[in-house]
Amino acid sequence: MSIANYKHTVAERFMRYVQVDTQSDPTSATQPSTAKQKDLSAILLRELQEMGLTETELDANGYVYGTIPATTNKQVPVLCYCAHVDTAPDCSGTGVKPILHPRYTGQDIVLPDDPTVVITTAEHPYLKERIGDDIITASGTTLLGADDKAGVAIIMDFARYMIQHPEIKHGKIRVLFTPDEEVGRGVVALDMKKLGADFGYTLDGGERGHLEGETFSADAVIVKFVGISAHPGYAKGKMVNAIKAASAFVSLLPRNEWCPEVTDGMQGFVHPTSIEGALENATVQLIVRSFETPQLAVYEERLRELVAKTAQQFPGLATEFIVKEQYRNMKEVLDLHPQVMQYAETAYERSGLHPHRMSIRGGTDGSRLSFMGLPCPNIFTGEMGIHSKQEYVSVQDMEKATEILVHLSAIWEEHA
Ligand SMILES: [Zn+2]
Repeated sequence: MSIANYKHTVAERFMRYVQVDTQSDPTSATQPSTAKQKDLSAILLRELQEMGLTETELDANGYVYGTIPATTNKQVPVLCYCAHVDTAPDCSGTGVKPILHPRYTGQDIVLPDDPTVVITTAEHPYLKERIGDDIITASGTTLLGADDKAGVAIIMDFARYMIQHPEIKHGKIRVLFTPDEEVGRGVVALDMKKLGADFGYTLDGGERGHLEGETFSADAVIVKFVGISAHPGYAKGKMVNAIKAASAFVSLLPRNEWCPEVTDGMQGFVHPTSIEGALENATVQLIVRSFETPQLAVYEERLRELVAKTAQQFPGLATEFIVKEQYRNMKEVLDLHPQVMQYAETAYERSGLHPHRMSIRGGTDGSRLSFMGLPCPNIFTGEMGIHSKQEYVSVQDMEKATEILVHLSAIWEEHA
């Protein structure tokens, strides 16, 4: 099977989809967080229906579902290919003007609507690897939205190819487009039963060849300090100041180790994200990260010791220590189903690529999905410089990812 002669639609789709403003909003309590995300979801739904997918739906929570029916009689696990429609709140996504730079020659790219915005090869060395490709950028005043409209366009181009090529044997394939990934709520209202898939792949990775099957495990820690208030003129021997206690605790946190500023690779960290308080009550919030889940408890014990040490300095102070699980390293789930990564690697190889297993120093919707019962590593899309005006994507990277999905679907059928 070769899709070499396929007239891809991924670039054309991408250029259209990025012009729809789908920015999500972390301060909103609605589902999805912004109604405008559904503007793109509605377009995707219609296009899936026009292509001939079945079981298509845009539900009230903003999820788009569709099915590419099986073309085999074998019992093949149901696969799900997933991407998110929203763009990051960090940078404007209003009025995106995508620019196609055909046959990129390796120079820095100056963006016309604000020439101070330059995508340099010094800051983006991956660009040098993409010389000869067609590169798409924004125009200088907005992000591009390749994260994750590259993934969306890849899945759409793939779906079109599969519908046009029923001779390729594959099992049932579910297509899923989610809202609100960028605000950490991409799968909260997902109906896993309706999805009905056994294994999944998110299309939301960066460089060609990367295959991400490992994320941090993550907890949040909330430390509450409760002091004793008194009139400051008559506070001697009575007042216990919670502000000072919280500050003392923060000052005990190491600065040369165990924090994001000085760790990388496979190292974990703790990181205070917020401090607020008044005389009587103060709260410090932290995040705790490690690739090894048991290490989180070790880190938390070390934090408890620092809280105890703080309390000793403030007689009368009460403290509370709350741990909240955030997400877990998806590798724990993927290791139970090694074929999910193996088949993906085979698909990369059939597409002429060397797969590189990568670890993400963060979480993905895939890590949450994996623990919701859908083992779900992350495939590259070519999206680079994400969440910024320097964002770019290679058309050929997107086409390569489309090809990988075709092979991957066939490989699952071959092994069934
Ligand atoms: Zn993304």
